[in-house]
Amino acid sequence: SSSEKLDLIVQKIRPFPDFPTAGVVFRDICPLLKDPKALAAVTDLFEEHVRQKHPEVRLIVGLDARGFLFGPLLAQRLGIGFALVRKKGKLPGPTVSVAYSLEYGAAEAEIQEDAVEPGQKVLLIDDLLATGGTLYAACELMKKQQAEVLGCLVVIELKDLKGAERLKSCPVFSLVQY
Ligand code: AMP
Repeated sequence: SSSEKLDLIVQKIRPFPDFPTAGVVFRDICPLLKDPKALAAVTDLFEEHVRQKHPEVRLIVGLDARGFLFGPLLAQRLGIGFALVRKKGKLPGPTVSVAYSLEYGAAEAEIQEDAVEPGQKVLLIDDLLATGGTLYAACELMKKQQAEVLGCLVVIELKDLKGAERLKSCPVFSLVQY
């Protein structure tokens, strides 16, 4: 059942207090990847949600780097393609990029110009939603590409940081909340 799958997932997310800096509880998904049943459960629950809420989706867009671990599995299940949003300087050919700020300093997210078609219905995916800065930047990229973002999918949502509010124009679906 869905709740058994969720239990399996929750058990495989490992907290590391004070990583990478003091005060942060890092949610480590490596145990989840190591357990094929738990990893399949993630894909199952995402698939169920997407088939119910977003059957019109045509492309899954994954965020650097842990969005790449879950996105292609889901895209394959749905029988659609996968595209990458990467940190600047990694992708060859013509690209579109957007700058965004991090807790310390700034970063740039980039996608290949031909990765998404104008008007294409896409879902964004990442491992974890914290402040929402990263997914917000990806949404901006999609806007530049004139894609239609149906929503964001994350395994984990850190509710206190109110990332979903920042992404108000774009509904967030998360499997596990802290
Ligand atoms: P944000 O842009 O603030 O929503 O941060 C999201 C990105 O940072 C995601 O790609 C996560 O992989 C990573 N991240 C932020 N906070 C954590 C955390 N507590 N544990 C694991 N990853 C995190």
